[in-house]
Amino acid sequence: MNPFTYTSAAARVVFGAGSLQHLEREIDLLGASRALVLCTPEQVDIATGIAQRLGSRAAGLFSQAVMHVPVETARAAREQARALGADCAVAIGGGSTIGLGKAIALETPAREFPILAIPTTYAGSEMTSIYGLTEAGVKKTGKDVRVLPRTVIYDADLTLSLPVGLSVTSGLNAIAHAAEGLYAQDGNPIMSLLAEEGIRALAAALPRIVQEPRNLEARALAQYGAWLCGTVLGNVGMALHHKLCHTLGGSFNLPHAETHTVVLPHALAYNAAAAPEAMAVLSRVFGRSDPARALYELAARLGAPPSLAALGMPESGIERAADLATQNPYWNPRPLEREAIAALLRRAWTGQPPT
Ligand code: NAD
Repeated sequence: MNPFTYTSAAARVVFGAGSLQHLEREIDLLGASRALVLCTPEQVDIATGIAQRLGSRAAGLFSQAVMHVPVETARAAREQARALGADCAVAIGGGSTIGLGKAIALETPAREFPILAIPTTYAGSEMTSIYGLTEAGVKKTGKDVRVLPRTVIYDADLTLSLPVGLSVTSGLNAIAHAAEGLYAQDGNPIMSLLAEEGIRALAAALPRIVQEPRNLEARALAQYGAWLCGTVLGNVGMALHHKLCHTLGGSFNLPHAETHTVVLPHALAYNAAAAPEAMAVLSRVFGRSDPARALYELAARLGAPPSLAALGMPESGIERAADLATQNPYWNPRPLEREAIAALLRRAWTGQPPT
């Protein structure tokens, strides 16, 4: 075995359909008593219900979470938390809402403003100490242990309302975290175990969710997979796939989960020959010798968007994206070759199969 370093980031997980019933207990266990409930405008009904239920344990509601956490929104939420005397955040929603909770926690002393995350997508942010903030259109990401949620409640009931299209792309976004974790420079056997199990769970759950969106068993299986894949994202470094998606999202304002969905098979094909152990794991999961192609076909069967063109990226952006993705060096199992990456992006743009 290769030597490795493994650091465990402790988070308490309460898993199971109906587990939202334990919210008051979990706030008490955090030693908190005045939660600021966070959500997007689209999820204000469920968040309002939670704030009302919490009674005196709720300091108030901030319902303006949006994608990519603009600094202005983070500032407004932080000021509201301070004005209301909130001592923790209850973030109910996807990566955007949990990201807002992280932005508040980032500016408070360690462990003074714990986040209790209630994820309702499969993005996995609740399991990482990675935060993102967008200022003047530029998104910066970083890592800080203060932003790692202290408690996570996975309640599959809350994911029944996630539209099928977003369930598919969010699930494939989670698979991307684990797939890249399999060939991470700082990978380790523990994370590879979680990655394999997480991908297997999501690959089994997503077709069932497409067929029957309100199937609670399938929803719980997808959440389990998302938890494992998010843990991988939080523990090992990512490579070409995540870099490309970050560049495409930031430069062309493309939707997060959909971009991951389209790019992943192509990024895996690019790295395949340089990451044989990762490909062996993925082949085992998908029962196919070409896992990049298997993922491409799975995404098509699930009705995912087929191409970057379909997401609204202009064709003229392909060369610019290739430049941006290769101008600052970063680790990847295969060296970053500008022309090969431009070709990868062209295939992703047109929706051709990965090669
Ligand atoms: P999102 O949080 O932006 O949610 C998309 C939309 O779906 C929102 O309108 C939301 O309110 C709605 N929604 C969420 N759950 C729902 C449900 N169960 N029913 C109905 N509607 C629901 O989407 P996302 O993909 O979860 O998060 C994307 C953001 O998270 C990006 O900004 C990305 O960079 C970030 N992210 C961060 C990390 C990290 O580790 N820091 C990890 C993954 C994603």
